[in-house]
Amino acid sequence: MITSQKIKNNNWDLLTQQIEYTINKSPYYKRLFKRKNIDITSFEYKDFLKFPLTQKKDLAQYNDDFIAVEKHEIIEYVTTSGTLGNPVTFALNEEDLQRLALNEQKSFNLAGVTKNDIVQLTTTLDKRFIAGLAYFLGLRKIGAGLIRVGAGAPALQWDSIQRFKPTYLVAVPSFLVKLVLYAQENQIDFKNSSIKGVICIGEALRDENHELNSLGKKINSLWDVELFSTYASTEMCTAFTECPQHQGLHIPEDLIYTEILNEEGKEVEIGEVGELVVTTLGVKTMPLLRYATGDLVKKLGQTCSCEQARQLISSVLGRKQQLIKYKGTSVYPQQIINVLATLENLPEYQIQVALNEMETDELTVVIPLEVSENLEQSIKEILKGTLRVTPLIKRLALTELKSRIFPEGSRKPVRFLDLRKH
Ligand SMILES: [Zn+2]
Repeated sequence: MITSQKIKNNNWDLLTQQIEYTINKSPYYKRLFKRKNIDITSFEYKDFLKFPLTQKKDLAQYNDDFIAVEKHEIIEYVTTSGTLGNPVTFALNEEDLQRLALNEQKSFNLAGVTKNDIVQLTTTLDKRFIAGLAYFLGLRKIGAGLIRVGAGAPALQWDSIQRFKPTYLVAVPSFLVKLVLYAQENQIDFKNSSIKGVICIGEALRDENHELNSLGKKINSLWDVELFSTYASTEMCTAFTECPQHQGLHIPEDLIYTEILNEEGKEVEIGEVGELVVTTLGVKTMPLLRYATGDLVKKLGQTCSCEQARQLISSVLGRKQQLIKYKGTSVYPQQIINVLATLENLPEYQIQVALNEMETDELTVVIPLEVSENLEQSIKEILKGTLRVTPLIKRLALTELKSRIFPEGSRKPVRFLDLRKH
């Protein structure tokens, strides 16, 4: 039951303005609403809840029809990361870039970044990537110092840290492990560096209860820096970030309207997991109405003790498509990754799921040829003990395995490979 108070809190005015704009300007939505015979001259919240969901495949199939501005207005073209399927084009105009800057300013502010800070970007600004641009614009808006080192290059990262004394990094969590290893090998006093916090992207740091997961714990056991998890995507043009209370991700309610839906398309209860469905607010070039992200999050519900957030969500627990049905239990790839990351001696691994002859999910963990029989046994035991799954084990030479996990041009490590056909 949605109360009027909840709608008020969730910026009903912004939402209705955005719906009207979108249906008038976006060829895709104009056509869709006409075909479905949806009248928006007067509508209430209950009508909004009946609007059809927009799926990722709609965005891919009718990509250009989502553009709601004149072509000459567009100033940025980016693509989605293409983790599942082909990357999709996304375009932004001046207002969208200003909105993106505001969004990222809010995200950095939430994590405690001010104009007195210096932030080092260890992520790429190019390669058709929106996030690097968003960080750049957000930090410019804050007026903080900014060092654009880009992806990789641990030597240049440490040189920059020692030279410019940044207070924060923006980084992919697993890259932090590499940075520490590089520092250890090269006698760099990383423990006394200027870095006090890291804004993390691309990989999960926290579990469904918002506790640090094994990767988060591993980083903190090596390096005592405050880790902030964030969640964002090209399509949403919006970042969900945690504040220093670390109780969950805040929803920026003036920039995005969120729903968390179960299999039946109904809003989940607090403590339940569902698919995040978003309506972007204030987006002009490619506005999305009830866009099904495919990302599964848990509705944490409690208001944050910082009192800035009315509702919190967990980090992404997995992709809806990636759910593995294993002998009656449901497992997300991230849960397996969380478990395997605790094994100190396992240098690399990849999880694969395929359909077997029975048309059910078959789980394989690919490990390096070089690891011991004992470790193979431990992998089976720990997965059986924690998640009640017994995977097949396949071995590959470490160099070959690495080239599959870090393929050319991939923005993040491919720890999970889905060989099922959807
Ligand atoms: Zn908070």
